[in-house]
Amino acid sequence: MNIKVVKFGGSSLADAEHFRRVAAIVKADPGRRYVVASAPGKRDSSDTKVTDMLYQCYELVRNHEDISEQFARIAERYNSIIRDLGLSFDIGGELDYIKNAILHHSGRDYAASRGEYLNSLILAKYLGFSFIDAESVIFFRENGSFDDEKTNAAMREELATRPYAVIPGFYGAMPNGTIKTFSRGGSDVTGSIVARAAEASVYENWTDVSGCLMADPRIVKNPRPIRTVTYRELRELSYMGATVLHEDAIFPVRNAGIPINIRNTNDPAAPGTMIVSATGEYDSDAVITGIAGKKGLSVITIEKDMMNAEIGFGRRVLEVLEDYGISFEHLPSGVDTMSVVVNTSMLDDHRERVLAAISRSVHPDSIVVEDGMALLAVVGRGMVKSKGTAARVFDAIASAGINIRMIDQGSSELNIIIGIEEDDLNAATNAIYREFVKE
Ligand code: ASP
Repeated sequence: MNIKVVKFGGSSLADAEHFRRVAAIVKADPGRRYVVASAPGKRDSSDTKVTDMLYQCYELVRNHEDISEQFARIAERYNSIIRDLGLSFDIGGELDYIKNAILHHSGRDYAASRGEYLNSLILAKYLGFSFIDAESVIFFRENGSFDDEKTNAAMREELATRPYAVIPGFYGAMPNGTIKTFSRGGSDVTGSIVARAAEASVYENWTDVSGCLMADPRIVKNPRPIRTVTYRELRELSYMGATVLHEDAIFPVRNAGIPINIRNTNDPAAPGTMIVSATGEYDSDAVITGIAGKKGLSVITIEKDMMNAEIGFGRRVLEVLEDYGISFEHLPSGVDTMSVVVNTSMLDDHRERVLAAISRSVHPDSIVVEDGMALLAVVGRGMVKSKGTAARVFDAIASAGINIRMIDQGSSELNIIIGIEEDDLNAATNAIYREFVKE
C-alpha cells in the first residue's frame, strides 16, 4: 500500500474543531497511516502556544515561583479539546505526573516536549490509532546531535508492528533517557524522519496556508501559491527568509527521494505545494518559482590596486571574518575590489576590530562599510531554459526607478540575486512579481 505520513502543525490541532478537520483528512485516505502531531498552537492572534506556556512553567520553577495558574491553563487547553470532542478519556493522571516532574526540575526540553506528548495521546485516542512515544524511537547522541542510524532502525522496527499510529513531534531521547527536543518548529523534522522510516510515498505537512507562496504576502497582495518547487529552489528561498518548513526537515526525505506536500488543513481540497528532488518539466508560464528578500545586511568593500595578482588576498579577508565568527552571505568582486556582504547584526558586535584586523592583514587602499542593504533573490529552475530572464528582472526594477547595487547570478542558473537599498525591497519585489505573473 502507498503509505503516507501526515504531520499536523500546532494551528491545525489548536482546538476540538481542528481535531475534527484533522480526523476527516486522515480518514479520507487509508494510506494516511502515520500521523505526527504538534502541540496545540494559537486559536487566534492573541492566544499563546502551549509550547510557550510550558517554557514559561519551566522558567517559573527556576525562579522558585508558583506554576499552579499557568499549569491550570495548559491543562484546560487539553481538557477542553477532550470535552468538546466528547471523548471519555481522563488525562488527569498524566497532567499530575507532568506537573510534578516540571516542579522537580526534569529539564527545559522535557517541559516543552509535553505539549506534543499530550496532544498525540488525545489524537491517537480520537483516531483509534496506536500511540508511539517519540522517546522510544527518536534518539540523540551524547553530544546532542541527532542519531540518524539508531533512530531509523528503531523507528522502522516499531512501525512494522503498528499499522496505524500517532507519534508526537519535536522530541526524542538522549542516551541516558532524558528528553531532548529539536529546535523550535521541530515537529517538521519528526515527520520527515517517520516518512523515511515508513518508506512513505509522500510526506504531507499540513499547516494553515495553502503551500508556499511565490512572494511574501505582506509585500505582494495575494501572491500565487507555488505548485511545485525543488528542494534546491526551496533552500534558496528559505535562506532568503521564506519560511515554510524547519530547515532540517528536508534532509531525511530528500535523501530517500520522498516528496513533501505542504497542505492546508483549513482548505483540504487545495493541492498545496509539492517539494520534489527534481522535475524534468517546468510550468511554461512560470519562468520563476518565487521571489524572496532579506534585509539588515552590510557590504564591506575593500579596494587595493593589483589585488587580482595578490595570492591569498581573499582568504586573508575571510579568515578575519572567521576569527570573529561572522559568516558571509555573498562575495561579489571586481579586478581591484572585493566586497563581502554580511549580516549587520553580526558585524555590529565587533565592527571596529574587524575592520582594523582586515586592514592589518591585507593593507588595502580603502575599506568602507555600507549598511541598510537588502538582497532580493529571484529563484526558478525554469530560468536555465528561458532566455532574457535577467533582462526582464533588471528592466522591471529599472522601470520602478530602483537603483541596483549588486548583481550575482548563481552559477547553477537557479537564481539571480540583486543587492538594493533596504527601503526599495518592497517596490522591487512587486515590480518583479508583476513582470512574471500575469493576472
Ligand atoms: N511545538 C513546537 C514549537 O512550537 C514544535 C512544533 O510545533 O513543531 O516550536
